[in-house]
Amino acid sequence: MAVKKWLRALGDLCFPPCCLCCGTSLAWGGTIELCPGCAGKLRFITPPFCPLCGVMYVNSGGGSHLCTLCCRQEYAFDRARSICRYNPEIGTIIHSLKFAGLKTGLRTMAALAENSLIHDLSSPDIIVPVPLHPRKLRSRGFNQSLLLAQLFFPDQKDKIAHALVRSRHTLAQTGLTGAERRKNVVGAFTVRQPQEVQGKKICLVDDVFTTGTTVHECAKTLKKAGAASVQVATLAMVDIW
Ligand SMILES: [Zn+2]
Ligand SMILES: [Zn+2]
Repeated sequence: MAVKKWLRALGDLCFPPCCLCCGTSLAWGGTIELCPGCAGKLRFITPPFCPLCGVMYVNSGGGSHLCTLCCRQEYAFDRARSICRYNPEIGTIIHSLKFAGLKTGLRTMAALAENSLIHDLSSPDIIVPVPLHPRKLRSRGFNQSLLLAQLFFPDQKDKIAHALVRSRHTLAQTGLTGAERRKNVVGAFTVRQPQEVQGKKICLVDDVFTTGTTVHECAKTLKKAGAASVQVATLAMVDIW
């Protein structure tokens, strides 16, 4: 551990840390790579929220209650929790990881995950990152959901299983309507080996929960293959109410 700290200090000395959002230079040795101004703009999910999908009621003064979508049993997963509400700051952090390959943001994401609502989820038997299509994995070089799974559950990395495969190349969900998103991912996933998921309590990990379409489709596929339960952990969630 001392070696790790020493290496980080050396790294900070050679490459002075900058705020992931605005690029301002930061003091050495900080836990997160965000300036106080940008860190203050992150919006953590707090009650009231839907106890099932975890969406926060931003403009409601009432208590936590099931949202309309969960009342209509729209989702195949059993429970979902996210750390932050999606906003430009968290969007920049995710974007820098996914598209610029800046893995420097991982330390910040790990710090955000500590003491977050993700710890509301019960301990899973296996942790499954939402997979990328092999073609996309080759071009990006890594799966951001796998990196997040390692950060969200640092003591349970041995439970990470690549149980799902994205068997069909799909369009990026951004810019599609709700109906188009659902159609885009139907049948996109398959279970690698049913015995890997049968009777298991599973936690799926993804970066952003937008309409829940992707994780719903993954959960549907896992349950069809015999999974006992499916929970979902994401870094950010888009406000809908
Ligand atoms: Zn900043
Ligand atoms: Zn809900």
